[in-house]
Amino acid sequence: MQIGRWNHQGSNSSGANKQRGRRNSDDLRPEDFAQYAIPARGGRSGGRRGFGERRGAFNRPRRATRGGFRAFGETEHEIQKFINRAPTQVEEEAPYEPKHRFGDFPFLPKLKENIEKKGYDLPTPIQDQTIPEILAGRDVVGLAETGSGKTAAFLLPLIQKVMLLPGERVLIMAPTRELAVQIEQELASFAKGLGFRGMVAVGGANIMPQIKQLKWDPTFVIGTPGRLKDLMERKALDLSNFGTVVLDEADRMLDMGFIDDMRFILGKMRAERHTLFFSATMGKDIEALIGDFLKEPVTISVKKRETSANVDQDVIRIGGADKFEKLTELLQDRDFTRTLVFVRTKHGAERLAKMLSRERIFADSIHGDKSHNARLRALEAFKRGKVQVLVATDVAARGLDIPEVSHVINYDLPGTYEDYVHRIGRTGRASAKGKALTFVD
Ligand code: AMP
Repeated sequence: MQIGRWNHQGSNSSGANKQRGRRNSDDLRPEDFAQYAIPARGGRSGGRRGFGERRGAFNRPRRATRGGFRAFGETEHEIQKFINRAPTQVEEEAPYEPKHRFGDFPFLPKLKENIEKKGYDLPTPIQDQTIPEILAGRDVVGLAETGSGKTAAFLLPLIQKVMLLPGERVLIMAPTRELAVQIEQELASFAKGLGFRGMVAVGGANIMPQIKQLKWDPTFVIGTPGRLKDLMERKALDLSNFGTVVLDEADRMLDMGFIDDMRFILGKMRAERHTLFFSATMGKDIEALIGDFLKEPVTISVKKRETSANVDQDVIRIGGADKFEKLTELLQDRDFTRTLVFVRTKHGAERLAKMLSRERIFADSIHGDKSHNARLRALEAFKRGKVQVLVATDVAARGLDIPEVSHVINYDLPGTYEDYVHRIGRTGRASAKGKALTFVD
């Protein structure tokens, strides 16, 4: 089946861009979009049609007023620009040549062995540049996203550190429960046989087992700011031995309103500590936090979303109740092996997953109203291929490492360009080809 492709490398899109470039947006004509328009329902009675077959169906550009939600794509022109942006950035990028191999880093033999067992050979750009700085004890600001290998970038040198300084304790703050669990899993795989443990301290899970685990004096505590603060207030978590702190996805933590908890926690740590700060974006709030809590940090920025070079992006012109029908139709295609569907609200995620299940499509959802365990179960089922479709909100999916997602479908439009890039970055990872489809009314 020929899928309606909007690959940035395709001659279609570049030709259209050149053409559009000669006029300003007020001069836009329907033909400008016609080649991207995918019919909402392609002749189902006359045999099944590939959703990418363009039959010239074009609806006039119109204002999208999504119940007060001013989506990024108020006009189709904006949507076109938006969807084209991610690959354009990538095209300008030169391939990165790492300065080190993992064998070059002065890791202890047992740690080297575990890295080898994971099959890592070459460090990713963020690893290549941050590992030597962290090993040298410097504060680091790492501007990198999920998929960049940032987790190993801070975990590996910190594992080395705690092996050399046995009394050292490391605190890792992360915005979501899932990300905390993921970091702990990665830690466990690198730290196999090294004789120390980590624990996860996140909200939404019973606090009592966490209090108990803290009594065992774990070397790494990985948690969400709200729960960490709670544990500190209950005197279950004493940070006086913690000489190292990592803030992972700091921008997300700010977005989620954790700023006061973060400041509270950092304020209780000793001043002469080692602080590592990771964020996908840099804004005023982030800069303020860095200024207040890091000492002469080295900033390392890796180019965004290398992976989106592997993502074919396309729009499907559809709205209202037809969206669900279109979605189920798409999901019948065998290529949609592991599909992540993005919606705007928690309620919407729950509802859509249920509707899909009723159509006998194996689907589950992750969103903020689900319990910690339910979210983990859904994620694991998706990872193991037990569910074909995971319906997610932006916040719940942020930072998750979900391998081999075949398709990302933006069932609801993302709120911002950043969200769009984050969403499509869930597919096309580690050199696999991925597809991102955006439903546009
Ligand atoms: P992260 O950005 O930390 O979520 O990592 C993304 C994915 O890349 C994870 O599945 C890692 O296990 C994997 N990964 C990280 N570093 C490397 C590396 N140097 N070589 C191969 N895979 C890696």
